[in-house]
Formats: sequence, structure tokens, C-alpha cells
Amino acid sequence: MPDERATVTCPDCDFRETFERLRTARSRIEDHRTETGHEAEWELHRLDSGVERAGDEAGVCGRPECTDEDSPLFRDDL
Ligand SMILES: [Zn+2]
Repeated sequence: MPDERATVTCPDCDFRETFERLRTARSRIEDHRTETGHEAEWELHRLDSGVERAGDEAGVCGRPECTDEDSPLFRDDL
């Protein structure tokens, strides 16, 4: 199995390509945007656990906007 580190996919077309270097993948995303106007996305491998953990931590905050879903008013919303 090749040493793949990132998979670039595009939700607007069937573009899908794997890269060993993140820099190359990033460059390819920019090229695709230039060529087609599509916003391709990349999925990182290997670093998955760390990235997911960081994402979870980033999504948790103590601001009121983030805790509204737990308020009685929100739950009583019909
Ligand atoms: Zn595309």
C-alpha cells in the first residue's frame, strides 16, 4: 500500500486523488479551484486521531451561544 497521507476529493465533481505530501495536496486543491471553481476538500491520514481530538476540543467552548441547546427554552421550542 502506498504511503498516502492525504486524499483530496471534490464534492462538486468526481475528482479524487491521493497524495504523499500535504503540500502537494494543498497545491492540487488550489489548482482545482483555479481550473474549475470547485472547493475540493482533503482528508488527512495517519494524523487522524490527533486532528479529530483537536477538532473536538476546538468545538467545545463555554460561550453562551454554544450552550443554548441545553436551555429549557430551547427544548420547549415547538
Ligand atoms: Zn471539482
